[in-house]
Amino acid sequence: GEIMYKLENHLADQCVISPSTFPENVPVGGLITVSIYTQKAYNVVQITHQFTIKREVYVHNCILLVNGANNEERLAHCNVMFHQVFNDPIHGHVELHPLLCKIIDTPQFQRLRNIKQLGGAYYVYPGASHNRFEHSIGVAHLAGQFARALKERQPELRIKKKDILCVEVAGLCHDLGHGPFSHLFDGNFIPKACPGRKWKHEKASIAMFNHLMKNKGVKSAMEKYRLDEKDRDFIKEMIFGPLKTKTSEKSNCIKNWPYKGRTKDKSFLYEIVSNKRNVDCLMDSLHLGMKNSFDHCRFIKFARVCKVAEDGEWQICIRDKEVSNIYEMFHTRSRLHRRAYQHKTNKIIELMITEAFVKADKHICRKGSKGKTFTLSETIKDMEAYTKLTDHIFDEILNSSSDDLKEAREILQKVITRKLYPYLGQTKPKQNQDITEVCTYIFVSHDYNFFDGTRKQGDFKIIVSICKIDFGMKHKNPIDNLRFYKKDEPDKAFKISDDQVSDFVLPSIFSEQWIRVYWNKSLSRKELKAAREIFENWRQKIPHPEVTFSY
Ligand SMILES: [Zn+2]
Repeated sequence: GEIMYKLENHLADQCVISPSTFPENVPVGGLITVSIYTQKAYNVVQITHQFTIKREVYVHNCILLVNGANNEERLAHCNVMFHQVFNDPIHGHVELHPLLCKIIDTPQFQRLRNIKQLGGAYYVYPGASHNRFEHSIGVAHLAGQFARALKERQPELRIKKKDILCVEVAGLCHDLGHGPFSHLFDGNFIPKACPGRKWKHEKASIAMFNHLMKNKGVKSAMEKYRLDEKDRDFIKEMIFGPLKTKTSEKSNCIKNWPYKGRTKDKSFLYEIVSNKRNVDCLMDSLHLGMKNSFDHCRFIKFARVCKVAEDGEWQICIRDKEVSNIYEMFHTRSRLHRRAYQHKTNKIIELMITEAFVKADKHICRKGSKGKTFTLSETIKDMEAYTKLTDHIFDEILNSSSDDLKEAREILQKVITRKLYPYLGQTKPKQNQDITEVCTYIFVSHDYNFFDGTRKQGDFKIIVSICKIDFGMKHKNPIDNLRFYKKDEPDKAFKISDDQVSDFVLPSIFSEQWIRVYWNKSLSRKELKAAREIFENWRQKIPHPEVTFSY
């Protein structure tokens, strides 16, 4: 279908499978070598892995471009089975510290096997099947690699082995607190189910980390490798940022340096995992099979820690000539948003799943600590209950038979049979335009006269979805936050201004917003046409001059 074709374009020259006759000649259980070539301006990176083929069982679903018998390029679903636990499809054989393995072998971490990294995107892109489990292992690996590279290049930083271990643990645990379907849970579900409640998955990651530390195996491994209270604080701060301190401690030190785990001369260590958003998006794009021109190996190779004159902090700086590579990373991020996270079908699927979860909220229960039971949205208060909450709730509702879950079940049935709420259209509001005002305008200005009389106004609801696409820093140029260094002055950090960057890589606008409108019931073809016309009329009437984008 259409989706396959789109993927095929992104995949060109990315993956080649040998032997060339795959899949016909490779038996189930046989080995296959996958080579991923990433061609860059300066070097060609080639990663080769061996995988066991399981054609029937979907363990890890990769979409790869296959060189067929006639040398005809074609797409095939290749179901890759890891024959070693940490044979990562992106990073190859990943060796992990025994402490990390101990953390991995806990129910709190294993839970991430059943949480989709990209929420509902799997229903749009078959390649978006990766879970928080393999993602977290990948982040731990990259974070460790980064810290080790800095230690080797700059011994004067006095990075200790224990520092690196803490960075790796933080990378491994940074997503522990995600709920079912990742951002769908904290971004859509919780705000709807518990209005006004300020809750983010990072907060749950900390709570889950504390819960996990009670595990006997993890506890003794922490002691064995001499990670103490301070190191645990350091790990939590890398995941969450500065932790709340008791008012008694809140004196002079907070103003200068808000962290407890490490002192200011190790400030750069905090950047490795909090840059995780970038690592996150990089890995998502690799999993989706999108062409990605940001090269993280180059990024690590050219990173250097310098003292930033203004505030005396030690910051990770990037070689000046690498600025275009950094822009590539931000472009990858915005491209991912447009093509995957904010895809219009993905959006409505996530809104429908959210609606089903809200309807099921009171009827899905998990047992938590002290034998207490918690409803779906209440599980965030109790980590024992929350540990039992994964994407499985989707199937729990879908396969339920109780009357209480009927409404929720019917919505999910529509999702899997792709009877999605019809899409009417989208519009891009002016920058800074008040979105709520625009939405209210839609609600009052449309007219229902196009229905043939069998439907009433109350039968329908308009669903408005607001999408924000930015470079991670709202309207600001993301480069403004970074520091660079020159080859001949490697210890002097400086900022790069707009006039030093080619217009080809520099976008003029760093964020954009879209309003998408859907109906919450299916419509006949005639009705859909009429509804779309009304939307179109409305769209043309509202004053929002087109903004031009330079990318
Ligand atoms: Zn992550």
